[in-house]
Formats: sequence, C-alpha cells, structure tokens
Amino acid sequence: MEEQAVQEKKYAVQDYKSDLHNDWCPGCGDFGILTALQNALANLGLAPHQVAVVSGVGCSGKTPHYLNTYGFHTLHGRVLPMATGIKLANREITLVAVGGDGDGYGIGGGQFVAGGRRNLDFTYIIYNNDVYALTKGQASPTVARGKKTKSMPEPSILEPIHPVALALSSGYTFVARGYALDVKHLTGLIQRGIEHRGSALIDVYQTCPTYNDLHSRAWYAGKDRGGKSRIRYLDQMQYDPVVKNPEDAREVAQKKLQALEKAWSADEEVTLGVYYQIRLPTLEENLAQKMPALQDAPLAEQRLWERDIAPLFEELT
Ligand code: SF4
Repeated sequence: MEEQAVQEKKYAVQDYKSDLHNDWCPGCGDFGILTALQNALANLGLAPHQVAVVSGVGCSGKTPHYLNTYGFHTLHGRVLPMATGIKLANREITLVAVGGDGDGYGIGGGQFVAGGRRNLDFTYIIYNNDVYALTKGQASPTVARGKKTKSMPEPSILEPIHPVALALSSGYTFVARGYALDVKHLTGLIQRGIEHRGSALIDVYQTCPTYNDLHSRAWYAGKDRGGKSRIRYLDQMQYDPVVKNPEDAREVAQKKLQALEKAWSADEEVTLGVYYQIRLPTLEENLAQKMPALQDAPLAEQRLWERDIAPLFEELT
C-alpha cells in the first residue's frame, strides 16, 4: 500500500484573527502585543481550538474578542481564578491570561501573588502602560512616585510596585519583560513563555498614546537624549536566567538576585528578555498526586455527570 505522507496543518496569523471590529486607539501598543501573541501561536503550530485566552477588565481585556481561540472576558482583577479553573478542567489546553497593570498588579494584586505560588501551567501577559486607560488614565501601581502623565491632575504620591520583583517573590517560574513595539522580540518571549511548564509572567511595556505621554514611543527610542535608545536586551549580555538545579537553594537565590539587579534599573533604561526560569512541579502535577480523578483524562473529557456521586456524599455527611 502506498504510504501517504501525513501533512501537519500549518497555521498562519490570519487563523487566529476574529472578524470583530477593533476599537483600540490608533497607535496603541496593544496592537503589537496582539500581533506578537498571534505570531507566537502560529509559530508553535497550535490550532485555535487548542488555545484559551482569558482577560480582565481594561483596554487589554478586549484581546480575546479579537482572537479566534476560546476566550473569556472576566471581572476586574479576577483573571487568575478563571484561568486556574479553566486549566484544572482541561489541562491539555494552552492557556494564556492577559490584562493590564491596574487589573493584574492593583485590583488583582492578591490573585497575582496566588497565581505565582500555585505555579499553574499558563502564560500571563501584562500590558503595562502605567495607567487605568479604559477609565480615562488614572495612575496605576506601576507609575513612579513624583511622575505625572497627561491624564493625571497631580504627580503620584505613592511608591510604585516592581513587576519583576513581585513576580520573583510570588513564585512565578518564568519571568520576562517585553516591549509592545518590538513585536519580533515579544513574539519570541511569548513562545518561550508558552513552552515553559509552569506560571510564566511576561510584563510588557505598552505605549498608550492617549493617556501616557511619559513612556511614549519617542521616550523608549531616546529622542530626548540624542536618539540613544533606552532599550537593552538580556540576550545581548552575558546573562543566563535558567536555574540548572532547582534543588540547589543557593543557585535559586543567586539567579533571583541577578534578575533583581538587572531589572531594578535606576538609570531610566529598560532591559528586555527572560530574567528567570526554573522547572518546578506545576499545580496540576501536584494536585494529581492527591486527586486520582486528575490523573486520568482531563476533567473536561471525563463525563463526570454520568458518575455515581453517592459515595462522595456519604463520605461528606
Ligand atoms: Fe490603547 Fe491607551 Fe487607547 Fe486604551 S486608551 S486603547 S491603552 S491607547
């Protein structure tokens, strides 16, 4: 019998686009992040039905609307409980969570910390533009003390949080930073985040030309300092983010400290790339040790409603 070559279907960016009208402002950095995500999914050869994208509230929250994958636009700051439920129900799905800095680090701050500690296998992309853009540009937790965007009546009087430091101390096992207008580099980061087994946080500097005149395209390009770009790349430095032996507490501490040192720039430059990566058991792997039902097929495929649950009730009463 003549052997037939099985052709794997190749996906193009177009396969992930929905036909909904996009109403982000012209020039918004969100477009770059959306394109990078679509590029990454295509490069990884993932079929749209193998991917779920869940979002919080904010301009970034519209991302699932513009994608032809599974999607869920949930409550403000509640991306991660939804993401956790989706992944526990179907561990086979490629799960991406998206949201803004106000949604993720402010309103959802407690969820953000819990998401890292759980080490759920997912990728969390935060569109970091220093403002709550959907509600007219109030200061978010990442705007620096003493700084004022054009949408703020007064400079911020609060200390900012540091996303990389917060992610490292919360337990995220992949921590990276990208820039919305460097789509090629960001595509690579998202691919690596998706390929990582565990909680991957990608904080993305995102330009918001409508409300944030501090961190504009021109600022990143260094127009105010003779065209000397503020952007640096970790992969152009001698920098290795990967923990080789997760059991070695000394190595883990050393890798986290080098990440902090690189991320905590006092010179108004930004450093992009993967800061830290370690392979640890995921939430799904840990739970499967305790819950036999999770060891079989994904819960979504187990037709649990057909099972006799009387013994469970007996156990609980
Ligand atoms: Fe983008 Fe800012 Fe417009 Fe929102 S308000 S769509 S973040 S430019």
